[in-house]
Amino acid sequence: MNILIFGPNGSGKGTQGAKVQEKYKIAHVESGGIFRKNIKGGTELGKKAKEYIDRGDLVPDDITIPMILDRLKEDDCKKGWLLDGFPRNKVQAETLAKALKDAGIELNYVIEIMLDRQIAKERIMGRRLCANDNNHPNHIAFEAIKPVEKDGKLVCRVCGGDLSARADDQDEVAIGKRHDIYYDTKTGTMAAVNFFKGIDGPKVISVDGSAGIKEVLDSIMKELD
Ligand code: AMP
Repeated sequence: MNILIFGPNGSGKGTQGAKVQEKYKIAHVESGGIFRKNIKGGTELGKKAKEYIDRGDLVPDDITIPMILDRLKEDDCKKGWLLDGFPRNKVQAETLAKALKDAGIELNYVIEIMLDRQIAKERIMGRRLCANDNNHPNHIAFEAIKPVEKDGKLVCRVCGGDLSARADDQDEVAIGKRHDIYYDTKTGTMAAVNFFKGIDGPKVISVDGSAGIKEVLDSIMKELD
């Protein structure tokens, strides 16, 4: 099962994506997570990507595209993948579509979580990252995924791990830039969404992201085989 998931930053894409990934036991390939891991590990890739990420700009295509296409060739992706955060613009979408076609890989679903820009911004500022696992959702404003308190500080509700806020999640200029890119229907992420909605093959699932986490999940799950 090969799936693309789209949604603006703050739409709950990571939370929902983790559930879809669990359902099919496929690889969760998250471009932003790969970058953050490289930054944490001090790799060359991480050093190159950091300045773009901190500003809320896209990491250039000549770094991002090969990184993702190589990742999809790894062993754990043979049983399928959920691609999250990529493609982020029209060029990435077209390049991915061609690479899949050339490799004879079928795309089964395109999931789109729709959300108003202002709501997305408010949601971004409250989310927290677990030091142990990117897929442990924590958000200070959502009862269902609220971090828990331990020794006077908030820790991951799933594993008790340390929590942090992403620098680019607390910077309104960076958030604005990320959303400018997402909602851009000419060359940005919405152009990539529309490109994949327009090709033959994948089933498109568009859901309203303003509903609660469980409602959004139910709307996605009932469309999946
Ligand atoms: P995310 O965790 O998806 O919000 O990604 C964090 C940051 O990583 C983005 O703001 C970009 O700077 C960078 N990034 C993630 N995915 C891509 C991509 N497909 N193309 C370019 N940059 C990306």
